[in-house]
Amino acid sequence: MPRKVLIALIKSESNGFSKMTTPLSAFGSQNRILRGPEMIERYRGTNLEPGGFIEVAEAEGWQLVPSIAAFASSSGPVEGAALEALCDMLIEDLTAAMPVDGVLLALHGSMMSETCMDTEREIVRRVRAVVGPTVPVLVSLDPHCNISHEMAADVQGMYAFRTSPHVDQRRTGIVTARMLAENFRRGALSRCVLARRRMLIGFDGARTYHDHGPFHEAIALAKTFEADPEILRVSIHAGYSKADCPMVGPSAAVTGFAPEEKLREVAETMMDECWRTRNETSEAVVSMEAARRALAERRPGDRPVVLGDYGDAPGGGAHGDGTALLSLLLETGAKNAVVVPMYDPEAALAFYTAGEGATLTLPLGGKYDPVRGGGPVERDWTVKRISDGKFAFTGPYGTGTRGSFGESALIESDGVMVIVTSLHRSVYDKEQLRIYGIEPEKMDVLVIKTMQGHRADFQPIAGVCLDVDSGGITSPDPLLFDWKHVPRPIWPMDAEVTG
Ligand SMILES: [Zn+2]
Repeated sequence: MPRKVLIALIKSESNGFSKMTTPLSAFGSQNRILRGPEMIERYRGTNLEPGGFIEVAEAEGWQLVPSIAAFASSSGPVEGAALEALCDMLIEDLTAAMPVDGVLLALHGSMMSETCMDTEREIVRRVRAVVGPTVPVLVSLDPHCNISHEMAADVQGMYAFRTSPHVDQRRTGIVTARMLAENFRRGALSRCVLARRRMLIGFDGARTYHDHGPFHEAIALAKTFEADPEILRVSIHAGYSKADCPMVGPSAAVTGFAPEEKLREVAETMMDECWRTRNETSEAVVSMEAARRALAERRPGDRPVVLGDYGDAPGGGAHGDGTALLSLLLETGAKNAVVVPMYDPEAALAFYTAGEGATLTLPLGGKYDPVRGGGPVERDWTVKRISDGKFAFTGPYGTGTRGSFGESALIESDGVMVIVTSLHRSVYDKEQLRIYGIEPEKMDVLVIKTMQGHRADFQPIAGVCLDVDSGGITSPDPLLFDWKHVPRPIWPMDAEVTG
């Protein structure tokens, strides 16, 4: 009898400071949640975790039960009813498929709902209630996750991406599925042990786009432990502070068949390393002033200046409508420059409807939280290109996946262009600009609203590539935020924390 394994993906990253919420309609590729065999069709061969689950399942001869694939772009907390609906779909499929031999879940690790801060733990708890204590449940994660001890205690293993930008999502699915296969082979249940510290952030934000830094060092250390056959994998988590939740911060989870004490020792050693490297980073986020200097220093013929809008990154759950860097471009007289994306559904629709060649005078962006990251910019905007916003990733990040900005427009004022979108999305791939007729390599300045994700495809074409703190709700400055749920004391805000 082949092993019967249920797979599912439920993901979002929730920013506790966002003025937006994430409804059920935000989940699913192009607003549709995939169920059953459709999930396999869509994910087979993609560079995403289910692609890896499917690959291992086929190699191992498992009978796959595809349940639900629901992904929502990072934003504010998931609406309570949406979480319930997602869980209901998963539990309904699982109940119908019982008995199953194993469960593989692709989760983010930083999803919150209006009703529950530890949603991943809640999903696992409900799955566990159906399958009982002897069926292995394993999860794949994003390293920007906040993991509770309760969550670790309820799974047989977890494993997070080891790259940021996350170009190893398929590999992570493979590693997670192989841990399940190892449970089957041994006829035994692995266990997962977590260690944490009183830290808000750690492991250099999981950055790997340089060839050095604390996350690289942590991976190297993890590999020394993974050489032990009783230790399957060490999952390294940088944390996601903007969730503002009780289980916030970096952690390390060790999965294996070794005694709990031994796994704990490894996890604690990983977190000692996290504490030791707390002040180190491979890429400092720079000030607006540094961005201004980079623009001034660019010479004709230089490769593009790429400014990542670290403070207003939709991929980190920010509103994506901040205008601080747009205003800087206009103020400094930048030409042949583009800002992407500007999430402003109202303006996007107005431009889209007005059509190419039209000029509209209207306030752009800065609407969700005008006091953070720049308020609306009112000017004459000329529509250069309109689009239904559909794109397919061809670069290294999420290769093979599709998405959409919705009805959208490329507009221009004084040589500064903006891609205004009606859907809240991140930019990871040059193709997302090409659909508007922009060749990124030929631009003087690219302002991309993302924290790290753009680096995989844009760093290679950049002359200068900076991450800029524009003051939005994904700013790295902890002092800008009114923390409500983060336990205190905590590093780096409170001096009394000593490791
Ligand atoms: Zn991430």
